[in-house]
Amino acid sequence: MAHKIDAGACTNCGLCVSECPVESIVAGADAHEITDGCVDCGACVPVCPVEAISG
Ligand code: SF4
Ligand code: SF4
Repeated sequence: MAHKIDAGACTNCGLCVSECPVESIVAGADAHEITDGCVDCGACVPVCPVEAISG
């Protein structure tokens, strides 16, 4: 199961994007989103300043 971003918590800062080795984090209008390409590595989780990413 892919990791997920809580759209309500995400501030759209973009810090998580460069952490993803498979480029599966994309910017949305109000929050970033994780796509089906996520391989559940967990690398994006600790960089989020508002802890919006869960696996
Ligand atoms: S868990 Fe890994 S593969 Fe999935 S979105 Fe985060 S950094 Fe990318
Ligand atoms: S690091 Fe967190 S707050 Fe910033 S875009 Fe990613 S999920 Fe959203």
